[in-house]
Amino acid sequence: MNPFSYARPTRIDEAISLFGPQSRYIAGGTNLLDLMKENVERPKQLIDITGLPLDSIEETADGGVRIGALVSNADLAWHALIERRYPLLAKAILAGASPQLRNMASTGGNLLQRTRCYYFYDSTVPCNKREPGTGCPARDGLNRMHAILGHSEQCIAVHPSDMCVALAALDAVVHVSGPQGERRVDFRDFHRLPGDEPERDNTLAEGELITAIELPAAGYAEHSAYLKLRDRASYAFALVSVAAALDIDGGVIRSARIALGGVAHKPWRDDAAEASLIGEAAEPPAFDRAAQLLLQGASGFEHNAFKIELARRAIKRALAEAARGTAA
Ligand code: SF4
Repeated sequence: MNPFSYARPTRIDEAISLFGPQSRYIAGGTNLLDLMKENVERPKQLIDITGLPLDSIEETADGGVRIGALVSNADLAWHALIERRYPLLAKAILAGASPQLRNMASTGGNLLQRTRCYYFYDSTVPCNKREPGTGCPARDGLNRMHAILGHSEQCIAVHPSDMCVALAALDAVVHVSGPQGERRVDFRDFHRLPGDEPERDNTLAEGELITAIELPAAGYAEHSAYLKLRDRASYAFALVSVAAALDIDGGVIRSARIALGGVAHKPWRDDAAEASLIGEAAEPPAFDRAAQLLLQGASGFEHNAFKIELARRAIKRALAEAARGTAA
């Protein structure tokens, strides 16, 4: 048993001022409590943020939507505004976890969930992410679920979220408050690749708290698709997932967004792949070129090399589905 203290502030500035060494913010607790039970996380203090006023979904002056960090995954997925204007996000959320978990899990917490690498959760074995410098047994071990893009010598883990794949494709912005004040982080700069610091999943500074996620006005409601491929039909993490969003005029693509999940330490986007689609007919030859560009540089390990071809096919299929029109 690891003893810890517990506080439940009601103001954002109070929560931030309480944060000290080995503190953790907790909302739904759907990942943090598992990590504490497995001895991976050993906080000295839990700061329960569920009393903060961060649970609303509001339209912004420029036509976007601001989602409070404490909105549950279930409330977000079933919100009329999200279903109508950002169906890609609703579909991605409903592809993840289980109804019970989605009822508890918060929007901000979804961004902060940690990899499901088996070795990371087993505190009896080495792991560079859990204990820097100890090694990465996944490289020569069981690596079926692991990365094919952006991995490093130090770590080949993937980010497990479905919601984040859609948020990456939609160019969301993360609102953060911390000891140094408030700031906005583009979604593609929020998570990071492992490099030489696999213990750092994201670019948050010590004590910073996610307060909201903002979506721009463009929701790609007419032409989007979320495709998730996994080992069983429900309650499983993605081997590969694709969030595809197209703006099509007269059969020609005006803009495109593609993000991949289950393949890297962060949702994976590639500007060249998206640019290659602009001005092209929304047809398979263009989708094939985009898939090749997205997977440039992909490399697998003993048990996951199959994911490269799986991802290529998934990208083409998701783009074709998006081109046909967002399914109800
Ligand atoms: Fe640890 Fe990353 Fe290696 Fe998994 S892949 S064992 S999380 S260092």
